[in-house]
Amino acid sequence: MPRKPRIETRSRRSKPYEKLKRNKGFNLMSSNFFGVIPQAMEKEDIGSHSRKWEEMDHDVLVKIFQCFDIFGLTSGIGQVCSKVCSTWRLAACDPLIWKTLDLSMLKSNFIKTPSEPYVYVDGPSDKTLTRVLKISLSLSHGNITTLIFHYNLFVSDDQLTYTAERCPRLKRLVMPAWNRIKKTGICKAICAWKDLESLTMPSISNPPYLIEEIGKNCKNFAELKIMGPCHIFFASTLAAFLPNLKVLSIRCSIIFKDALNIILDDLKKLEVLNISHCVLIDSPPTLPRRVLGELDESILKKAKRLRKFITCMNDSCITCKRTRQDEGLMRWYKYEADFWKVDEVKSLAI
Ligand SMILES: [Zn+2]
Repeated sequence: MPRKPRIETRSRRSKPYEKLKRNKGFNLMSSNFFGVIPQAMEKEDIGSHSRKWEEMDHDVLVKIFQCFDIFGLTSGIGQVCSKVCSTWRLAACDPLIWKTLDLSMLKSNFIKTPSEPYVYVDGPSDKTLTRVLKISLSLSHGNITTLIFHYNLFVSDDQLTYTAERCPRLKRLVMPAWNRIKKTGICKAICAWKDLESLTMPSISNPPYLIEEIGKNCKNFAELKIMGPCHIFFASTLAAFLPNLKVLSIRCSIIFKDALNIILDDLKKLEVLNISHCVLIDSPPTLPRRVLGELDESILKKAKRLRKFITCMNDSCITCKRTRQDEGLMRWYKYEADFWKVDEVKSLAI
């Protein structure tokens, strides 16, 4: 007599990985994981220890779905779940899977322009992004707290608004490129993100409209990373509208000495400042710019009140060399794929 398959319930669960090992009927390593489902489902019982796909334990399914990247989740799970059963659909919507929506492997096909619209994105890459956003935001049920975009993924105003409305609990946004986003688009999104605590953004020439909006709407906002030059205007805007900022990272970029002084003097609650691998420019900016080889005593003295002051100005450091080669405007595409994700501040790394 074949043994009756045992169905685990949530109240009788053991460690999910141990269950994974026991589930010999499922080939998790198969790149065609979803492709084998129809055949597997036809064979109701392929061995005395096998179970039906729809009988898989919820926690095991969640663990499996957590192994997939966004393409697997949106093309595989999104399509298969609608055909399998409510158990799968429920697992595919589990908040554990959707805490972070990581789109850092998705890039736009684009051409940049010096004036408006600043960037042209081709239709197919826009369609792909819209499809991925629609499926993932629908499965996430508003549970996304971290949202990560690639530095070459150019989100449109409509896509951003659609995302903001469906991520009401967002705490961390990494969006290094917003050439297509207008003032109204980003401000509308910020208004929807009351819980926002951390932002990675490009350097922008007119920061007050955005920083003021963050100051007004996001009461727990504490961490900022600027991927681009930090000029005096940016620093004074931070001091004016984000006086409670605790962590600031301006790595691999240009930083003006006056801007650094404003940050150290006026951001009284700042605890961590990362200016690693930056090109430090003397102030007032003169032409040709005078690059400073080291931090002077007055800056080091002011920085002593910080919990962490992270710096690197080292001729033998490869990252410092790259910043100098690129004249403080990093061309991330030239380097390792994940190089842009690094940060000496752990909470700002990806
Ligand atoms: Zn360095």
